[in-house]
Amino acid sequence: MFSYRHAFHAGNHADVLKHTTLIALMKYLTQKDTALTVIDTHAGAGLYRLDGDYTETSGEAQHGVFRLFSMPNKAIAPVPSAQAAIKTIATRKPTSSKPPVNEALAPALQDYVDLLHRLNPQLAESGDAAHLKIYPGSPFIEQQFLSGRDKLKLFELHPTDFKSLTGNIAQLGVGRQVSVTCEDGFEVLKTFLPPPARRAMVLCDPSYEIKTDYARVAACMADAVKRFATGTYVVWYPVIPRPEAHDLPRKLKTMATKAGRSWLNATLTVKSSKLTTDDAGDVVRPGLPASGMFVINPPHTLKAELQAALPQMVARLGQDRNAGFTLEHGG
Ligand code: SAM
Repeated sequence: MFSYRHAFHAGNHADVLKHTTLIALMKYLTQKDTALTVIDTHAGAGLYRLDGDYTETSGEAQHGVFRLFSMPNKAIAPVPSAQAAIKTIATRKPTSSKPPVNEALAPALQDYVDLLHRLNPQLAESGDAAHLKIYPGSPFIEQQFLSGRDKLKLFELHPTDFKSLTGNIAQLGVGRQVSVTCEDGFEVLKTFLPPPARRAMVLCDPSYEIKTDYARVAACMADAVKRFATGTYVVWYPVIPRPEAHDLPRKLKTMATKAGRSWLNATLTVKSSKLTTDDAGDVVRPGLPASGMFVINPPHTLKAELQAALPQMVARLGQDRNAGFTLEHGG
């Protein structure tokens, strides 16, 4: 069985990118009157404690979400129209942009912070990051935006996380609107496409613990687009020096372009991927340096939202001079 547990990583820089993007997508896609089916193929436990044993051991959230609370947050800043007008932002090298750290949060990041405030009322009252104790995984974020007509289908294969997820979702008392199943998310996706009201968003967020996950993501997304071309498909991936990881966004771009679908690819780098040595001369692995979100059929608003939010993520979460972002789109 897998050893990956998302609890060790909850609230890290990859979650900040993933969940900020997810909130922007859910907010946009749930504005319409037609029912939306949301399918989360790799759901995790749904809810995490940032003061729990797992997260305290790894400390990843300290370099992720907590950094958003160590700076003063001002009111929501509008997206500058000049940024919204940018047609293509294609940066081969990460763009390091350092806005002043006390500027107002971009709307997408503000929405993310607002959601954390709602889950942590003491944090909202005091503004003290010590009160950031509960962290929402993708299932909770998705559920927050649903209205009565929408459906959320969650898949989680790890028995312990499946049990936690089932318990966490039961607490919400939302009945049959949200289903939780212990099945292989890659396998089951096809059985839900096309969805009844022909509107769907799929989040595919594996742990990539097994090398074959990269190929499975590419194959699963290609099959999904064939079955239901107009769905919004969202893939999280690690940016690491490994051929499969490097190839995945390229494969997704080629597939989306061939299928005549639009796409957006955003990456956030927080530090160098190079191995270093400590004072004792021991090799220190850097941990995850960067990650990306690839979206097929993104809403037209997403690019401008991320264009405003990504430089702020770099400014707040960046750990060395390699920090930066890329944002490109096509189709
Ligand atoms: N999406 C979650 C979030 O953002 O909060 C995090 C998910 S975590 C990165 C990946 C999860 O996928 C792990 O909990 C792992 O147990 C589960 N998993 C691994 N392979 C799977 C598969 N084939 N089908 C369903 N779940 C799987």
